This record gives sequence, structure tokens and C-alpha cells, in this order.
Amino acid sequence: MGRGQPAILVSNDDGIHAPGLTALAKGLAGLGAVYVVAPDRERSTVGHALTLHRPLRVERLGPRRYAVNGMPSDCVNLGVLGILPARPDVVVSGINQGSNLGDDVTYSGTVSAAMEGVLLGIPSLAVSLVEGEDYEPAGRVARALTELVLRRGLPPDTLLNVNVPAGEVKGIRFTRLGRRVYSEKVVEETDPRGKTYYWIGGGPPLWEAGEGTDFAAVSAGWVSVTPLHLDLTNHEALRALAAWEDDLQAKGWTPGRRRRAR
Ligand code: MN
Repeated sequence: MGRGQPAILVSNDDGIHAPGLTALAKGLAGLGAVYVVAPDRERSTVGHALTLHRPLRVERLGPRRYAVNGMPSDCVNLGVLGILPARPDVVVSGINQGSNLGDDVTYSGTVSAAMEGVLLGIPSLAVSLVEGEDYEPAGRVARALTELVLRRGLPPDTLLNVNVPAGEVKGIRFTRLGRRVYSEKVVEETDPRGKTYYWIGGGPPLWEAGEGTDFAAVSAGWVSVTPLHLDLTNHEALRALAAWEDDLQAKGWTPGRRRRAR
């Protein structure tokens, strides 16, 4: 890089006091200048929320360590554009308590922090510990992958979503997102004042056992690394929708197909 040690921005969604965040910063120590900018409290499952309608405050808790009264994406945005002295070379989010697999990535504050990094043009990773409280091995995985990202870079608009199973891992596998099986169960109860309330996501998570998926990898004891991009366009569907064009054109809704050159 030729300009001294790399700058590493670390954030999470479990909050500045989460043990997974400490383990991540520890795991990355020595790879570069590690800056921690994290929410001042837990912000799990806030997705990619950004705070636009109230002021954000930053509290400096120590050298290169800041708490923000906002969301994970706020932290990355502020870290990159406001707090760090220079643009970070990599954003690493985590280590989340609990998995971020398959469809769940869209809810995840951990993954969204990495998405924010990607939107700002910075190679980014999200790291989650599937089970348990022993973050140290996941910290070593984060270090190995961050080192590679710094050395090799990532394809544009891409983040790595990393899930580390508990205990002894067999190694690292590159995977695709799995699909969650929704049990469609909502708990309906009555509160002490006689009003009905609901609780979603109560049941245990079930997954389709697809080969090559993130879920299959972690179930078999492998670290799962899924490259994600932010283009949610379904390109296959876009091609299929061409068949609608004649119908819509007849009613004046579309400009119609482009004429072939004669
Ligand atoms: Mn979390």
C-alpha cells in the first residue's frame, strides 16, 4: 500500500460493550490501526436502518474507540466520513452473537454494517458466531480473512458474510445463501391489561438442507463464507418479464421493443 499500516474500521450491532466486538478488535490487533465505532447499545435486527431525523452523538471511550447513539450503518457511515483520520482499507463487522445465515441477512445489523462499508466503496466483512460465547476462534478466522481481503481485495460491490460454528472448526468453505423454512408461527397472548399482543420469530429456526449453502457448511462444522452483493435485481426475472411487454404495449404502458436495425 505504501502508506504505512492499513486502517481497519470495526463495528457491530450488539453494541460497544459486547464481548464479540472486543474479541474481533483483539483478533485484528497488529494487522493495522484498528478503530472501533459501534452503537452505544444493542441494535440487533435493525437491518440497514440509517438515522436521518435526529442528531447523532459520538462518545470517545478511549484511543480509537467510539460509541454512537445510532444504528450499525450510522456507525460505519460516521466512522468513514467523520471520525477516522483517513479512509479505512477494510470494514469488519461483528463478531455477532448468533448466526446470520440465508434469508436472515436482510434483517441483520451486523451484515448491514458491512453493506454500508460496501456502499462507501470499502471492502467489508461481517462475522458471526453461530452458537455459544467463545469468540476467540472466530476472532482468528476474522483475522485470517481480513488479512486476505487487505492483500487481495474483493470484487466490487461485494462483502463477505462469515459464519463461524461453535467449537473446533474443520476449515473454511465458500457458500451460497440458504433458505429459511418459515414455520409461520406467531405467538398471540393477552397482556396484564387484557390487550392482545403478538410475538414473532418465536419458533426455532429451520433451514432447507441445500447443498453448498451457508447453513449446510456450518451444520457440518465448517466456517461459511458467502460473497454478497447489494444488487437485489432478479436478472432472470427481468428477462422473463420481456414477455409482458407486448401486453403492456398494447395498452400504452411501455414503449415497446426496440426495432431491429434493417
Ligand atoms: Mn446482533
